[in-house]
Amino acid sequence: MDTASRQVVVIGGGIVGSSTAYFLKKRGINVTILEGSSIAAGASGKAGGLLAYDWTEGQPSESLTKVSYKLHQELAKTFGAESIGYRPVTTVSLAIDTVSNRGKKVPGAEWINNKSVSQSSKLGDERTTAQVHPRLLTQKLAESADKIIYAQAERIETSGSDGKPSAVLAKGKDGNEVKVDCTDVVVAAGPWSGQLVKKLFKNDSSVDSSDYSIVGSRAHSIVLKSSQPLSAMACFTSIRTGKNTTEPELYCRPDGTGYLCGPTDDAPLPERADQVDINTKAIAKLKAEAILISPEALGEKAEVVAEQACFLPISRSTGSPILSELKENVFFAAGHSCWGILQGPATGLAMSELILDGKVSCCDVSELTP
Ligand SMILES: Cc1cc2nc3c(=O)[nH]c(=O)nc-3n(C[C@H](O)[C@H](O)[C@H](O)COP(=O)(O)OP(=O)(O)OC[C@H]3O[C@@H](n4cnc5c(N)ncnc54)[C@H](O)[C@@H]3O)c2cc1C
Repeated sequence: MDTASRQVVVIGGGIVGSSTAYFLKKRGINVTILEGSSIAAGASGKAGGLLAYDWTEGQPSESLTKVSYKLHQELAKTFGAESIGYRPVTTVSLAIDTVSNRGKKVPGAEWINNKSVSQSSKLGDERTTAQVHPRLLTQKLAESADKIIYAQAERIETSGSDGKPSAVLAKGKDGNEVKVDCTDVVVAAGPWSGQLVKKLFKNDSSVDSSDYSIVGSRAHSIVLKSSQPLSAMACFTSIRTGKNTTEPELYCRPDGTGYLCGPTDDAPLPERADQVDINTKAIAKLKAEAILISPEALGEKAEVVAEQACFLPISRSTGSPILSELKENVFFAAGHSCWGILQGPATGLAMSELILDGKVSCCDVSELTP
């Protein structure tokens, strides 16, 4: 099929779907994003946004990560670094022990409560670690689509005997059915991708939906507007208070906020991204940890900007992202776990190549199949 007649519907307006739309559009393809809630409603709007060049070395996604890290630098030039909160950062590991109070200084981070820091070491510098504001980047990428339709994809209509897609049928927010004509479909629905494949292909014996089993794992985060300037720093902490140790991650953003996220739990995945429940205890714990890291900058004087939760998309069958052609003219990209913001742009570029050229050349995705 010639490029001009292709019409791609991308299901899911997270970083993966929006990046796919962006790179397809760069090749002149007509693209519609079909999004059930709002752009970046899931993890792509609530993630930390840390980017690390070499932290997936030796893993199946190493090449995807490295290509994507460079694409982030290019996107920052294209969109303007400030508009997407992009900047290189220093990344440190920080041990805080409220019992021993050893009072170590963290170089370049005077705002950190140094009475209880027992150890700090560098994990990455400004050449190998960076950050981006996930929601702002996702929204910028999504703007490239010809159309964004807010509706929950429910069915794929096929034409003739070849089984190729001719339309996606979805339910709009008003409950009405929406029909979007297409030649190709990309399933990029994050943690909802596994159950969506099951639903879309329940009567199609050529698709084994267990190959595309993506599940969701909930994590909470808060965003605090600091009362004093924070450094360009990401901190992987280990906080010991008596017998308990917790490991929240703190990312200081260029807008003067600090983003803090905690561990995952086993809450069930809701039907839609805007229906995620927030556990107030998990939020209170993060606030208490922020005070332990820096009572001055992130304590009572800090303004709470966001209290939120979202679901990591985890590939149950492979443990790695899955980028593949699910059947003729239907594609799948999901399961990026804790590196979806980092790997989103290269995933989008790879998917655009797979759809238009029949093979991926920008990076090695040979191990990212079901
Ligand atoms: C707490 C936390 C911190 C993180 N920090 C980082 C980080 O620092 N760096 C990093 O690289 N990654 C990070 N991640 C991981 C990253 O956020 C995810 O891997 C990434 O956002 C997944 O993107 P996605 O587009 O696949 O899915 P999502 O962002 O979940 O997007 C899926 C979209 O699909 C839509 N959708 C679902 N079903 C349908 C349907 N039937 N029809 C239409 N639309 C549908 C949803 O509404 C949603 O908008 C973090 C994740 C969490 C939870």
